[in-house]
Amino acid sequence: MIEVKNVTKKYGKAVAVEDISFTINDGEIVGLLGPNGAGKSTTMNILTGYIEQTSGDVTIEGYNTLKKPKKAKMQIGYMAEGVPLYTDLTVKEFVTYMAELKKVNRKERKEKVQKVIEQTGLKDVENKLTKNLSRGYKQRVSMAGALVGDPKILILDEPTVGLDPKQITEIRNLIKELGKTHTVILSSHILSEVSQICNKVIIINKGKIVAIDTPENLENRVSKNNCIYVTVEDTENKIDKIKNEIKEIKNIELVQENEDKTKQYLIEADKDIDLRKKIFSEFAKENITIFEMKKADTTLEDAFIKLIEGGNK
Ligand code: ADP
Ligand code: MG
Repeated sequence: MIEVKNVTKKYGKAVAVEDISFTINDGEIVGLLGPNGAGKSTTMNILTGYIEQTSGDVTIEGYNTLKKPKKAKMQIGYMAEGVPLYTDLTVKEFVTYMAELKKVNRKERKEKVQKVIEQTGLKDVENKLTKNLSRGYKQRVSMAGALVGDPKILILDEPTVGLDPKQITEIRNLIKELGKTHTVILSSHILSEVSQICNKVIIINKGKIVAIDTPENLENRVSKNNCIYVTVEDTENKIDKIKNEIKEIKNIELVQENEDKTKQYLIEADKDIDLRKKIFSEFAKENITIFEMKKADTTLEDAFIKLIEGGNK
């Protein structure tokens, strides 16, 4: 478990992270989501003990990062932003070096290094120099470095930046797999990534936390009303009558008029009311032909933007 309480980090007068608090439970895959400069890397660096907060407390598996830094650090495998690797080492040498740094028992070292190399799909390239590997493989090597030593917690700073779509899918699948046996915190400025991998999202903007929730709840939080798009042929102009007939309708708005004389309307109702059946029957009664009907989705993207905009006010 990770507990962050009222943590602030200042660089001189500039506040990088301001009074943030959150808890991460065992086995969670948590996404730290925010635009560039939001404070994601700063937060991660504080969790790993790589930099010290100006105020506040962080405990990792019960160890305070300032009072018991070694114990706290041992719980964490950290993959920093931008894959800083020792490029003149082979994959195996690099992972072995990381194992030494993490004080993996000499007797077990070889075996543990091999295990991690296999886990991250690096067996075929274990004797290649890391500098000769593709970006996607370098990321795997970096991941292997974080994994060696069996940390309970993995902290991955922007793990998919700079990768092509195929590599992104591979790394995401690897993270999901690792999430079954580890607590994972990853940062990203990409929403779809976080919603695909994580079961909890911490949205951070300008150093402050603006929301902590599941991806699903975040979507629900911003979709206060529920909206349906209907495209109709309404030659007799009876849409206004409909509004009086279906009392659950809060608002009808003309979205667009199409060349084929059909019109698209946005129909708004209170949350949790599904108007589709009533729309079908009432529209038919009024001789309005429905060409298309669909529910308007609110995406995590909308949630993110609304939360960030709210934070800027
Ligand atoms: P993110 O990872 O979300 O892009 P960072 O945590 O790297 O954001 O940065 C948060 C803020 O702190 C930014 O405004 C950045 O300029 C500032 N910052 C980060 N590191 C330093 C530093 N070493 N010295 C001064 N300011 C810094
Ligand atoms: Mg960063």
